[in-house]
Amino acid sequence: MVDWGLVEPSAITAALEYASRNQMRLGEALVALGSVSEDDVAKALASQFDLEYRDLERHPIDASAISLIPEDIIRRHFVLPVERRDSHLKVIITDPLDLETLDSLRFRLNVDLECSLAALSKVKAVVQAHFQDQQKDTLDGTISDLTQMGTQMSETLMGADVQSAGRLGMGEEESSAPIVKLVTAIISSAVQSRSSDIHIEPMADRVRVRYRIDGVCLERESIPKRMQNSVISRLKIMSGMDIATKRLPQDGRIKLAVGAEEIDFRVSALPGYHGESLVLRILRPETAQLGIEALGFEPDDHERFERIIRRPNGIFLVTGPTGSGKTTTLYAALNTLNRPDVKIITAEDPVEYNFPGMNQCEVQEEIGRTFPIILRSMLRQAPNIILVGEIRDYEVADVAMAAALTGHLVFSTLHTNDAPSAITRLLDIGIKPFLVSSAVQAIMAQRLIRKICDNCREEYKNPDPKFLKVLGFSEQEVATGRFQHGAGCEKCNNSGYHGRQGIFELCAMNSELRELAFNRAPLSELKRAAKATGMRTLLDDGRRKVVSGVTTPEEVTRVTVQDIEVVESETD
Ligand SMILES: [Zn+2]
Repeated sequence: MVDWGLVEPSAITAALEYASRNQMRLGEALVALGSVSEDDVAKALASQFDLEYRDLERHPIDASAISLIPEDIIRRHFVLPVERRDSHLKVIITDPLDLETLDSLRFRLNVDLECSLAALSKVKAVVQAHFQDQQKDTLDGTISDLTQMGTQMSETLMGADVQSAGRLGMGEEESSAPIVKLVTAIISSAVQSRSSDIHIEPMADRVRVRYRIDGVCLERESIPKRMQNSVISRLKIMSGMDIATKRLPQDGRIKLAVGAEEIDFRVSALPGYHGESLVLRILRPETAQLGIEALGFEPDDHERFERIIRRPNGIFLVTGPTGSGKTTTLYAALNTLNRPDVKIITAEDPVEYNFPGMNQCEVQEEIGRTFPIILRSMLRQAPNIILVGEIRDYEVADVAMAAALTGHLVFSTLHTNDAPSAITRLLDIGIKPFLVSSAVQAIMAQRLIRKICDNCREEYKNPDPKFLKVLGFSEQEVATGRFQHGAGCEKCNNSGYHGRQGIFELCAMNSELRELAFNRAPLSELKRAAKATGMRTLLDDGRRKVVSGVTTPEEVTRVTVQDIEVVESETD
């Protein structure tokens, strides 16, 4: 690639370092760092291994050929069949070094292989598009089959008492039981549509199923009321809950192979008026392995963030409401700092992802394993870096502050809307001003914004001036500015958005802020001083992302302004 003029040798050096740190291949690292495209890597690999490169967008494969290779092999190894002549099979592969897959194909199909190479994400897209259609058919089909089966069926399933529901979870007939099929179909459909969670909510006349995609709930299908008990029992069995307990909240976990991926779900059950509602949160390991590069920092904030997390001690707080991506940010920071010579200990509620080489401890209030207790015993283990999932009260805050002042780098989160408010919050819960002023190194508020879908991106002809004014655009800019939005397409469920990233308000403490904290200065003073240090507010950063076409004015307003009606009445 250097010979081809695609990358500078310095980018290769950086990628080699990144690759060894994150245990990836050089090509993956180059793509992750944005140095080259995945297609370029595939082309280079093809040339290196003397294979043909296949551009799947320009030369798509014939859908009828898919059946030439068994589905399980396609899904597990991402091999695509092109055509077969006698004992000769043309295939598209993504990894020329995966000789095992090629051998097993030769063996299972008794063929000679002729390989060409394509980018993994392109092959995955083909596999998903092909099998998702089938999945959708089964989901709709399963629901309608079940609906048509009538009373005979419903007597066996609907009345599913504890015992028969228990049988559904075991035994030979498991995979053929329609309820099991339905539940599996709901889960795989959610995973394939990039959902973060599935909500199963009993209502008076039906059971509503909603998926949350890019932070927004979408209603996808309904389950007939008479299947409510069986579906909920099935999910409770899968997640290891007690199905006889229906009047108390419960938590559980499911580990399930969906397509080629092994996915963890955190499940919670909550009793309600029309029955128990369930929420399945999909824990995706890949979101935890994202580098800092993927969080969405502008270059200046990125550089400040990298500097702050490399300090030897002090406390770094990330703030924002639930679902603002705080955990992802902290995990990305820890992942960067996770090296053999650094000891990292975490106290989390719950542990969402397991990192190799870190000591992660889960809070369990029932047995007395609380944040302060874990924290105190952590400190006896001589860590360099500590993550405290959340500062909820004085006790946790006090131990965290003390740790930060005794040579530890402490990461934690707080529920405040902006960065400067974290200082007043700590003082309000009773932390001594001198502790706040000396222990806190930086505070970062953040939100997640939906990104404009690249597939249907277009110029935004008539953006609502109301939102532009909220973001501080002048009359002139509103009149002449060029903005972008997504028109809506199949790929983004007609929402015009695809994927999310953060907007940030990064406040690094300086001597003035420390003095203000020490003197319990009012919030307005802190805010003024923070802006004077160069801190950009969430709105400022959102505005930059509107200008660069990452997102839309209304999206930034949606996530930053707490009460949109207040804004409406102010600007009308
Ligand atoms: Zn779109």
